[in-house]
Amino acid sequence: MFVVALLGGLGALLHACKADRWLDDLASHGSGEEKSRPRPTATTTTSGPKVSPARGGGGKPADPSVHLALGVPADDDASDDHLMRKAQYALSYNADQNVANWVSWQIDASWFGDAPRHKGKFMTDAELPSGLYRVTHDDYTGSGYDRGHMVRSEERTRSPEDNRVTFLMTNILPQYHDLNAGPWLRLEESCEELGRKRGKQLFVMAGGVLKRGKKPTKTIGKGVAVPDTFFKIVVVLDPREGPADVTESTPVIAVLMPNKEGIQDEGWEKYRTTVDEIERRTGYDFLTAVDEDVQEAIEAKKGD
Ligand code: MN
Ligand code: MN
Repeated sequence: MFVVALLGGLGALLHACKADRWLDDLASHGSGEEKSRPRPTATTTTSGPKVSPARGGGGKPADPSVHLALGVPADDDASDDHLMRKAQYALSYNADQNVANWVSWQIDASWFGDAPRHKGKFMTDAELPSGLYRVTHDDYTGSGYDRGHMVRSEERTRSPEDNRVTFLMTNILPQYHDLNAGPWLRLEESCEELGRKRGKQLFVMAGGVLKRGKKPTKTIGKGVAVPDTFFKIVVVLDPREGPADVTESTPVIAVLMPNKEGIQDEGWEKYRTTVDEIERRTGYDFLTAVDEDVQEAIEAKKGD
C-alpha cells in the first residue's frame, strides 16, 4: 500500500515538473506586455473585460459578449442551439439532450477573488424558455455521475453571485468522478495557473461530444444526456487581445477526454488533439471570428 502511494506521489511530482516547464514555455509566448500598436475602435460595447473586435471571420459583427469574442460556435442545424449569454459565460443549450452543446468563457486574473464556493444544491436555470425542461440537482442524484462544471467554480470567485451562476444546471454535464477529479481537473488547474498567476487571457470552449440530431442513447434523470467523450479548447492570449490578435503561433490547447472510470491519476497532456478533430467529432465550427487562414493553421496544430 505504502509503495503504491509512494510511486503515485512520485508520478504526480514528475508530472507536475513536466507541466511546469510546459507552462513556462507557454506563458513566455508573446511579450506579456501591452501591445504598442494602435487599437481599432470597438463597434460594440460590453460590460466586463474589453477585447479588440473581430476582423476577418467572414465579416460578421463581433458578438457583444466577451465570452464569444472568438466567435459563436455553429453547426449546420441551429434548431437545437438555444444561445444564452450570461455575464459570467455564454452557452448553446440543447433541449433534446438537456445539456449544453458547448459553453464558452473568458478567463483572466480579474475573475479570481476570495468569494466562497456556493453552498447547497445546484440550481435550475430560470433563464431557459418556459417550454423547455429545466434540469434539476436531483436529476443527477444516485446516477453515479458527478455534476461536472464546464465553467469551474474556482474560475468565478470575484463575487458570490459570479460563483453562484456556475452552479446553474445549464453549466453542468454528467462526468465520471475519475474524469472530473482527474485529467479534466488538471487542465483546469493549468488554466488557473495561466490566467490567475501568469497574467494570460484565455478563451475556453468546452462540452460533451453529443450524438448529433438524435435522442441521446445514454441518459440519467429526466433525459439528461451522458456524453462518452468531453472536449475543451483553450486559446491563450495576452490581456486585452481579441480575435484579430490570434496568429499562427498563438498557443491553442485542444483535448478530447473519455468519460470513464480509472483515469483519475492521468495528466491531461495525453488527451491532446486538434481543434479540427473536435470540430469533426462535434459538428461545430469553433473560433469563427478568427481570420480564416489563421483558423486553418491553428486548428490543424497539435501541441506537444
Ligand atoms: Mn469539475
Ligand atoms: Mn473553426
